[in-house]
Amino acid sequence: MNADPPILSLAGVRYQWSGRTSFALNVPDFQLAQAESVLLLGESGSGKSTLLSLICGTITADEGAVKVAGTDIAALSAGKRDRFRAEHIGLIFQQFNLLPYASVFDNILLPLRFAPLRRGRVSSPFDTARTLCLDLGLPENALSAQAGTLSVGQQQRVAAARALIGAPPLIVADEPTSALDASTQATFLKLLFAQANAARSTLLMVSHDERLGVYFDRVVQMSDVTQTAQAAQ
Ligand code: ADP
Ligand code: MG
Repeated sequence: MNADPPILSLAGVRYQWSGRTSFALNVPDFQLAQAESVLLLGESGSGKSTLLSLICGTITADEGAVKVAGTDIAALSAGKRDRFRAEHIGLIFQQFNLLPYASVFDNILLPLRFAPLRRGRVSSPFDTARTLCLDLGLPENALSAQAGTLSVGQQQRVAAARALIGAPPLIVADEPTSALDASTQATFLKLLFAQANAARSTLLMVSHDERLGVYFDRVVQMSDVTQTAQAAQ
């Protein structure tokens, strides 16, 4: 018997961007188990990034509940929600969102600043950041480099290290390999999986590239997760 609650659950979720009637996201029931890796596939404009924003609590559902590790994130105050996100979710954005003038080391450590529990799992920030960098294939001297001076592939690895540090239970990645060629993509995904597995973090990645499916425990289509407004009525 699996007694672990899902790390993520969405139930009866509806969301519309204000002023936009042409797009509505409906997610009747979607769950992620602890430590599984899931690729969510969908066309551009199908609502993948919107769904990730709901999961991260940067936007809140019009209806329904989004629970991360059992907590309804919309029920938290804005400040608590930011802290909850930092504690529980490692984020890899499509554009990486690194601080270009800060060092790689400072970029990787950034989420720990807002997440005391996550910071508590990191006994030596320097050693942990250094090990993550090396395991993700960054050169030894990368830690002191300005993030903005690195190649796209290297910046992506920094973004992954920042998401992984302190082993948050959920790693969410928004098309993080779309700027890379196929062999760099494959290398990156293998390194990311090795790290996520070691930490027993759940990995949710969204993409339009179905070739990535081979790397994941489960592949889910956006069209199966969502319903159009007409179909849902
Ligand atoms: P995907 O990530 O699958 O390409 P998105 O979630 O970005 O899809 O977009 C889904 C729909 O929501 C699109 O119609 C898009 O124009 C709209 N949308 C996305 N972000 C915003 C926003 N910040 N404000 C208004 N509409 C948005
Ligand atoms: Mg998107």
